[in-house]
Amino acid sequence: MLTEALQRRLAERHEQSRYRSRRLLDSAQGARIVVDGREFLQFCSNDYLGLANHPQLVSAMQNAAATYGVGGGASHLVCGHSSLHHQLEERLADITGRDRALLFSTGYMANLGTVTALMGKGDHILEDRLNHASLLDAGLLSGARFQRFQHNDIDDLERRLKKLPLEGLRLIVVDAVFSMDGDIAPLPELAALAKRYNAYLMADDAHGFGVLGKAGAGSSELFGLDQDQLPVLMGTLGKGIGSFGAFVAGSEVLIESLIQFARPYIYTTAMPPAVAAASLASLDILKSESWRREHLQCLIKRFRDGAAGLALPMMDSETAIQPLLVGEESQAIAISKGLEAEGVLVSAIRPPTVAAGQSRLRITLSAAHSEADIDRLLGALNKVVPAALRVAPRVL
Ligand code: PMP
Repeated sequence: MLTEALQRRLAERHEQSRYRSRRLLDSAQGARIVVDGREFLQFCSNDYLGLANHPQLVSAMQNAAATYGVGGGASHLVCGHSSLHHQLEERLADITGRDRALLFSTGYMANLGTVTALMGKGDHILEDRLNHASLLDAGLLSGARFQRFQHNDIDDLERRLKKLPLEGLRLIVVDAVFSMDGDIAPLPELAALAKRYNAYLMADDAHGFGVLGKAGAGSSELFGLDQDQLPVLMGTLGKGIGSFGAFVAGSEVLIESLIQFARPYIYTTAMPPAVAAASLASLDILKSESWRREHLQCLIKRFRDGAAGLALPMMDSETAIQPLLVGEESQAIAISKGLEAEGVLVSAIRPPTVAAGQSRLRITLSAAHSEADIDRLLGALNKVVPAALRVAPRVL
């Protein structure tokens, strides 16, 4: 019975052009990767600064593994909290300008753990409707009253805040950089609204940390938001930082509360200390190789200018996430396959990750790319994206 029901659901996915499959990667991350035995120029990883295979990260991890071994061994609260984890937490607190930071094994768990630890029955959670799945799942799991406001729509959020009863805590939750759209949340306006309506603000900076801000401290640095304005700051270490894991930064009482109440923190094995060592090395590189952020910004500009010249249907994003809006699932897949034939790898994003009719190519740029790589991408897109999808040139 179950098998047949599952088979039906799988067949349905196929029919909707929503079936997902994995590819076999046989190289390190980088501008060029070997997938299913073939080398591609890739624009689909979140390794925005090109650090995932940086020699200093690699040797930091090797050296730490030689001392601490490879296994995390136990949860942080049992006997898995090593001095490397502790050092990394202190560095993360320092770089984000928060009192303390707490490591989680993944960003998904950080979001699930934080929202469910802070909010419960009788409380109110308001989330941007395009928030990452882990935040939406967290809202549902928390047992709090959970609503989604229109994307980046301060007025819609305010209308909803006005209607809330006085009882219960209030948490506003947003992606700082939206993972499938690449646009940035209006954090200063959100912080002001949170203050006015006695709500707490949480931002998931998975795609901003390491990349945005002069020092790479992310969206809170970009907007100059301190701990009072943005009390719950979550960041990941597996994207711009090039390593693995995540953290939440904030006040002493926030971090102690997470240690006591965040179940995905308490009941899981600590990340291996050698992974923490790689993240520590990466934080050094954020400082010593600031050219990576500058180079990435140049590439983003080069790509956006080139795409505008080709009248490609780009979404409005100024970050390393540059989605090209296609619409139908099957067409998004066809374009992705066309690029693949040109030796260029870009993933097609389809429902349920994005709304129906909003399938897109999620192009991600990295400091690992060269200007010539961007030009090659533009050439391939020009060849593969059909005329019907081209847009009227923008009047600047
Ligand atoms: N938040 C956002 C906005 C993300 O894009 C992701 C990763 N796709 C996560 C959280 C989860 O982070 P991790 O991969 O470390 O679990």
